[in-house]
Amino acid sequence: MYGYSRKEALGQVSADLLKTRYPGSRASAYAMVTENGLWEGRLVQTRKDGVEIVVDGKWVLDPAAKLILEVNREITEDLASAERFQILVESIKDYAIFLLDTEGRIRTWNEGARRINGYDNGEAIGMHFSVFYPPEDAEAGKPERELAVARETGRVEDEGWRVRKDGTRFFASAVITALHNASGRLTGYAKVTRDITANQLERQRLLDLERAKSAFLNLVAHELRSPLTVLRGYLSMYRASTPEARRDLEERSLPALEAKTVEMSRLVDQMVEVARLEEGSLRLRTDTVDLVPLIDESVELARALEESPAHRLMFEPYPYELNVVGDPERIQMILSNLLSNAIKYSPGGGDVIVRLEKTANLARVSVEDHGVGIPLTEQVRLFSRFMRVERANYDHVPGTGMGLYLSRELARRQGGDLVLQWSGPGGSSFALLMPLAPS
Ligand code: ADP
Repeated sequence: MYGYSRKEALGQVSADLLKTRYPGSRASAYAMVTENGLWEGRLVQTRKDGVEIVVDGKWVLDPAAKLILEVNREITEDLASAERFQILVESIKDYAIFLLDTEGRIRTWNEGARRINGYDNGEAIGMHFSVFYPPEDAEAGKPERELAVARETGRVEDEGWRVRKDGTRFFASAVITALHNASGRLTGYAKVTRDITANQLERQRLLDLERAKSAFLNLVAHELRSPLTVLRGYLSMYRASTPEARRDLEERSLPALEAKTVEMSRLVDQMVEVARLEEGSLRLRTDTVDLVPLIDESVELARALEESPAHRLMFEPYPYELNVVGDPERIQMILSNLLSNAIKYSPGGGDVIVRLEKTANLARVSVEDHGVGIPLTEQVRLFSRFMRVERANYDHVPGTGMGLYLSRELARRQGGDLVLQWSGPGGSSFALLMPLAPS
């Protein structure tokens, strides 16, 4: 009957092999046969050649042998085609399929409808289908409008939120088809609904990501434009100046030119790193690195880039070596980001203090500033991708919200971490933690 040989079938779970669909659930049929010793009902099963058949099932429990004896008789041919079709529809689980009368009241109900909408057969029959719509859609007359369109054009498709019996919502893809009798009079509607919440959430996530990406690209373009404007400005001044004036201009412009070039390269480097991170192609070195000269260099670089010397950058002396395991370039990238933030977000100037400490198994580099601080409500999101703190009474500070996100990821991938130690109206302190090298 099924087309499987004895060898193919032995040892298989029959319901899986035959893709059995039950009038209720598989579990309830098994529960019934184990409790009462007997289960009877109509099943839809699939033959080896893929054809679906309807069988009359009679299952008996043999408690001594701990076996369930399944006697299934194929009745596909005995059934009128309408009845066969009805059994098939009733057993479908992934689609809610039901008929409505001309007013929109429910006349039939299947297993899929029970699972998707949450109402049992008995409850659903006679109900108006508008109960599945969110109150705002029902009040706006959406269900009636859909029936009207189906009536006039033959069918209507819709995607939107629907409400289950327990009040939770799901995102549905639905088709309503108008049904007519032989003389062309409307007899009702057939409605097929699928729960596509998962697809919809994924679609929304991709859309949000797309939006965040284009907002980010805008920001990067903006951030690249301002140093470029400076470079262009100096270039045109060079072009217009006499050879004597050029000397003087050179002296005045070089630090700014250098600083702007570094600013742009840093931005491009950060973008490349973020892209690598997201593609999963980031490779990190695991060298033994002495942090002391590395911090010295980063502080030096930050000093050199500081255009107005309103800040004092200090590295509290650390008289020993302190070796960690990591990628020197990436450690420097993190430190430069912390130092640049410390300067950017302390517009009134003040000391920026870098300290190095050794704990039991970590090295801690802290960077402390006396700047604007970070509001408590923003501190939780601080390390999220592209997150920036909006400050109303503070002129635009260049940035893209990449720095802290990237720095923390880089630190974590080297077995360390990046944390905000404290922050308030008086300033902030961030700490980079790195694993010590074995001594
Ligand atoms: P960016 O500086 O490019 O905006 P970051 O990821 O480096 O991006 O920082 C995220 C946000 O955290 C910044 O927009 C800034 O508001 C805040 N922030 C970072 N460092 C400090 C700091 N030292 N003091 C105050 N705010 C800071």
